[in-house]
Amino acid sequence: MNFLEERIAKDGVIKPGNVLKVDSFLNHQMDIDLFNKMGAEWKKRFEGKPINKILTIEASGIGIACVAGTYFNCPVVFAKKAKSINIDGDVYVTEVESFTHKTKNQVLVSKKYLNKDDHVLIIDDFLANGCALQGLISLVHEAGGTVEGIGIAIEKGFQIGGQVIRNLGYQLESLAIVEGMNDETGEIIFR
Ligand code: 5GP
Repeated sequence: MNFLEERIAKDGVIKPGNVLKVDSFLNHQMDIDLFNKMGAEWKKRFEGKPINKILTIEASGIGIACVAGTYFNCPVVFAKKAKSINIDGDVYVTEVESFTHKTKNQVLVSKKYLNKDDHVLIIDDFLANGCALQGLISLVHEAGGTVEGIGIAIEKGFQIGGQVIRNLGYQLESLAIVEGMNDETGEIIFR
């Protein structure tokens, strides 16, 4: 097991509905030592890529993306979830269905902060069905930028997102891939 898998095994809590809670170190309280290890690991895995921007989505991607930003030495932009009423022509916008809340959000980035010269590393905490990632990818493409890679903390390998994103040809680097989990026994199996 790597450092993240060990932490998930120790502190992760399995909830019904295929939800893994990692509030004690990632989604509520944040372990910055752990985030540093994650940033360093992504830096290694994306070595040689001309990354000049990190893109994530609010809220829970922001912390890990910021720490990763110190390893890539680049700005971090987070896509905002917004009510359609706020949207004007100065933003790139897409729609994302939330896995955890089962709602659809319009997600946007100002045209000021994403453009054709950007070589983007997308970072997020979880990959489940891939809706959040597909939304972020489409924002980069709307802006005419390039997706250089995707860094995920925890991929739930038993859901379809990882396969969909890899089939699209992206370099997807998930630091822990959960192959199965049992909310009755608390058992977690990693790929
Ligand atoms: P997707 O769009 O890939 O279906 O879901 C990814 C998003 O849903 C992530 O940004 C994450 O916030 C949330 N998410 C999906 N599955 C889980 C989970 O098991 N636990 C937690 N804490 N968040 C999840």
